[in-house]
Amino acid sequence: MPNAIAALLQGLASGAVRVVDLTQPLSEQTPVLQLPPPFANTPPLSRRTLSRYDEAGPAWAWDVLELGEHTGTHFDAPIHWISGQEGEDVASVAPTKLVAPAVVIDRSAEVADDPGYLLTVAEIERHEAEHGEIAPGSWVLLRSGWDARAQDAEAFLNAGPEGPVTPGPDVEAARWLGTQRGIVGYGVETVGTDAGAAGGFDPPFPAHAFLMGNGRYGLTQLANLAQLPPTGALLIVAPLKLVGGTGSPARVLALV
Ligand code: MN
Repeated sequence: MPNAIAALLQGLASGAVRVVDLTQPLSEQTPVLQLPPPFANTPPLSRRTLSRYDEAGPAWAWDVLELGEHTGTHFDAPIHWISGQEGEDVASVAPTKLVAPAVVIDRSAEVADDPGYLLTVAEIERHEAEHGEIAPGSWVLLRSGWDARAQDAEAFLNAGPEGPVTPGPDVEAARWLGTQRGIVGYGVETVGTDAGAAGGFDPPFPAHAFLMGNGRYGLTQLANLAQLPPTGALLIVAPLKLVGGTGSPARVLALV
């Protein structure tokens, strides 16, 4: 296809190809993960003004940010987890992996009935039977409907007496995602790639353990997955090229 870029540009211009923004807005109100003591927690975004067209900068406005690497819609690099500590930091991620096809597994109906829904290998295989085997180099995205809660920290984190109640893969599904199809990574609408109950799993937080431990990536707090087809969308993931970074807030776009 000698004119592939021309065809894409024409598709964008005509509207035949749509750009869908999968990124949640990042503000001081963006919910962040809450770990129980004694663990350290990531801060939400805060900003300090450097100037506002004033004495400190008569013609310009700019701010200093404080935020965690894992604040808002963000990318998890392999070194985020102990199982991947010998793996890549964010800056080492090959750009070819940041432009890749997306497979969307829609379990929003199941999650509406059961907010602690666990994705199983059987469910992934059922998806493959319907839509074809997940191709190597794909992102697998779990559509849960959770993005509807993203502007309400209490509903989004959904902490119950036993801890957070949010969907995610069970242990075997996490192992499968990390090892079975050569995927680039796994993305979710919730605050983390693991289920809310996953701290009590064996191993704890298996999505992190098996994804990071196998050189896969994570994407969290995604929006608008409802606008993506089960297969055939192209994902563009843009974390900061942060040297030594364990993760980074990211802009995530899909071409549909
Ligand atoms: Mn993270």
